[in-house]
Amino acid sequence: MSTSHLYHRRRVIAGLAASFGAALVPRLYAANRSDVVIIGAGLSGLYAALLLTDAGLRVTVLEGSSRAGGRVHTSGDMPEAPELGATEIGPLYARVRDVARRLKLTLEPRGDPVAPFALAVRGQLISIEDWPVSEFNRTVGDERTVPPPALLQSFVTRRNPLARPDDWLEPDARALDVSVRDWLRSIGASDEALRLINEGLLTADAGATSILPSLQDGLRMDISRRMAGSQASGGVDRVVGGTSKLITGMIDLLDDHVLMNRRVTAVDLTSARAVTRCADGSTYESDFVIATAPFPSLRRIAIEPALRGAQAEAVTRMRWANTSQVFLRHDAGEYWEQDGFAASLWSDGPVNLYRQRIDSDLITAVIVGRKSDALDRLAPEERANFVIRDLEQQRPVLRGKLRPVMNHSWRQQELIGGCRHDFAPGTVSRFVPAMFESHERLFFAGEHLRRLEIGMEAAMESGEHAALEILAT
Ligand SMILES: Cc1cc2nc3c(=O)[nH]c(=O)nc-3n(C[C@H](O)[C@H](O)[C@H](O)COP(=O)(O)OP(=O)(O)OC[C@H]3O[C@@H](n4cnc5c(N)ncnc54)[C@H](O)[C@@H]3O)c2cc1C
Repeated sequence: MSTSHLYHRRRVIAGLAASFGAALVPRLYAANRSDVVIIGAGLSGLYAALLLTDAGLRVTVLEGSSRAGGRVHTSGDMPEAPELGATEIGPLYARVRDVARRLKLTLEPRGDPVAPFALAVRGQLISIEDWPVSEFNRTVGDERTVPPPALLQSFVTRRNPLARPDDWLEPDARALDVSVRDWLRSIGASDEALRLINEGLLTADAGATSILPSLQDGLRMDISRRMAGSQASGGVDRVVGGTSKLITGMIDLLDDHVLMNRRVTAVDLTSARAVTRCADGSTYESDFVIATAPFPSLRRIAIEPALRGAQAEAVTRMRWANTSQVFLRHDAGEYWEQDGFAASLWSDGPVNLYRQRIDSDLITAVIVGRKSDALDRLAPEERANFVIRDLEQQRPVLRGKLRPVMNHSWRQQELIGGCRHDFAPGTVSRFVPAMFESHERLFFAGEHLRRLEIGMEAAMESGEHAALEILAT
């Protein structure tokens, strides 16, 4: 987004604030009363809170857990402080970069500090360079030159029918709200390309997840790449010291308006003011409420009057995908020199990625989609054993040299319920327009309410949208 867009947005917010603020001057606040209650102290909730506070409104943010940040979580349990959630700040992340500037955070131009990747396909280690000519590469024609982790994006880049980032929400896009499998077949992808893509899908099986969000993601990423030009980092930055610094900085700006351990259980919209109730028995009155809780958590909040129609169906039925991580350490020195393959691995086996850090002996196993649900069904101590057995099989040089450090599963974060939303075919066109609707005095935000953006920028985009709607009401 250009600076002029950002400037324009700020002027809109300032203008709306001026008219709203005038009405606020004489208002006195009783305890637990505010203009806006925000459910959730993730990026979307905190950004909405900042905009509304800047506009002169009194805001209370209720966070259900003892940690703010939601899917932004720099782990304090390991010296490397790895990110369990968001890391990469894309070149077009205007809001995230604006907040980082305001907080005087330093950004450094790089993605994760992870060693280069080799492939493990059908149990064979293959270098990226050898992939096009490998006998284990059973893809066809032009597909052969594309490493498996880049296959879906390569099809999207070459065959994307969307031209602008908001096209996916237009009525014409309905015809594209089909499964990943059907779309890939319609453009002539081979069975093996389809299999490899399916092995790495974050969401449900390729037959059960819509291609439309991937077309929008892909278009947005292609635009980012064009903007980044020849920069070695791809225009991607990260926060020095960890992404959670964004969260702590925003909370500092919000003073004492963020309350922890306040799990919201009910929102009553039947009176002149909304009443939000928490599991600890506390209640909060406000003119408006913004709910940023991901749907697996939102569906457990009793909303009165209840949501209706497609909006209710979206909240109840939308699936959330999962990402699990298992952290291991090794004492095998530069083991990649011994077996001759790059240190990190992309695999079509039960573990999707092994990411070897370049600055320590830490290996992060990343398991996504249905594979992560299978892993999560194991007892916590068994998960590391399962991953160690798999990695030892792929790389015999690591036999007896691995030890477990920690597991993390986004599915098992009770108030989040997964790493991101997952649209079944046909549900983008049915759910999305309804998901954006406000309900009485209740507004919605969260990454799942993205329009043009992706990731952290989408979370802030949605928070801004809810804040602007309230200011305009
Ligand atoms: C593994 C992973 C990697 C990622 N990598 C990137 C990346 O590199 N770049 C990028 O841009 N994005 C990335 N993302 C996406 C990014 O993290 C999210 O888009 C963003 O953090 C979502 O913010 P949110 O506010 O919408 O939701 P959340 O962060 O989920 O926040 C919701 C908050 O609401 C709280 N809550 C829920 N229910 C209740 C309740 N009943 N009462 C009170 N509080 C409640 C939760 O505890 C939580 O704090 C990644 C995400 C994951 C999981």
